[in-house]
Amino acid sequence: MNEAVRGIDDELLRILACPVDKSPVQLRGDRIVCTRCGRRYPIRDGIPIMLAEEAEAP
Ligand SMILES: [Zn+2]
Repeated sequence: MNEAVRGIDDELLRILACPVDKSPVQLRGDRIVCTRCGRRYPIRDGIPIMLAEEAEAP
């Protein structure tokens, strides 16, 4: 597994939500992806950056 995402597990993903629409998110590659709007949030040092201004548009 990618070093950057090692600390990201299912339990953490369950408590995370997209800050824009409060929808569940999934881990895809080394990004956290919103299941609704498709925004991609970066992971830095194992920490998901759940900020709309940091997200990549779908
Ligand atoms: Zn979203």
